[in-house]
Amino acid sequence: MEFSLIERIRERTAQGREDVRLGIGDDAALLAVPVGQELAVAIDTLVEGVHFPVATAAADIGWKALAVNLSDLAAMGATPAWALLALTLPNADPAVVDGLASGFAQLAQPYRLALVGGDTTRGSFALSVAVHGFVPPGKALLRAGAQVGDAVFVTGTLGDAAAGLRLVQQGRGSDDARAAFLVERLNRPTPRVAAGLALRGFANACIDVSDGLLADLGHICEASDVGAHVDVASLPRSSALLDLFDDVAAGDFALSGGDDYELCFTVPLRHVATVQADLARLGCGATRIGQIVQGRGIKVRDARGQWLEPGHRGWDHFKA
Ligand code: ADP
Ligand code: MG
Repeated sequence: MEFSLIERIRERTAQGREDVRLGIGDDAALLAVPVGQELAVAIDTLVEGVHFPVATAAADIGWKALAVNLSDLAAMGATPAWALLALTLPNADPAVVDGLASGFAQLAQPYRLALVGGDTTRGSFALSVAVHGFVPPGKALLRAGAQVGDAVFVTGTLGDAAAGLRLVQQGRGSDDARAAFLVERLNRPTPRVAAGLALRGFANACIDVSDGLLADLGHICEASDVGAHVDVASLPRSSALLDLFDDVAAGDFALSGGDDYELCFTVPLRHVATVQADLARLGCGATRIGQIVQGRGIKVRDARGQWLEPGHRGWDHFKA
């Protein structure tokens, strides 16, 4: 595709790194993996109308495409280093490319993450980002390590992004500062990279919450061959969410809403205090929401201590 578009992306995402021997411009990038580290790689695709609303600003899309990938590295406890960007555009609109590149660069910069290559093609608007990060051998946080008796935690707050999407769909996205906060959580999620690094050596299992807490904690349970109990009343919810939605809706968003990109992880009891202190220091905090039990599947307790039946709104509300 047009050289000038690739050049615009290169200029806006330039990042000096010693380990990039050759970046954008040749047939392939040449990268030096630090001796003694494992490479963690992940890729995620965003499609217009599926993963972001059609009217989303280009800079927000560029941010989010990288954020969802950094979130995967965070969930592995990996340090981000490099990315590739495959971009499909209906037409060669420099304003869109500049917006995408600037949102991407804004998030990449504090991590010193270098965009080292990609591909640019014509078609329906979609973008795939692949990320590469480093983790010491054997130290990655896996889904499969949860142990019976572990405490289950999440970072940050849950349900904000799903609530933001609801507001956008209702045309209420810029009603007030609370609505704007929830839409920002949808469009510009914060990958919990530092939290993931801090959890190495303390968490037994970790995943990022992209499809909703129940779905993603379910993946930990399946991989670890355990079950979990979750208390709805304990789920961390932002004041914006609680202000703009009733308790039932806020609980449903927190249980089943996707796109929050918080980390959900399990911790043996002896490490609980350390993890809480470390993540409080990092600013995102960690809230204890339940525990790992023997058996299969997740059981959810409501605010009055009653077990919710599968089929309750929160279980399948967002699958339709
Ligand atoms: P090729 O035909 O070898 O794939 P391209 O014209 O697709 O060459 O790409 C030329 C250079 O620009 C390559 O180094 C490629 O990695 C980089 N590149 C292409 N598109 C992008 C993009 N969207 N973002 C970053 N780098 C890109
Ligand atoms: Mg190419």
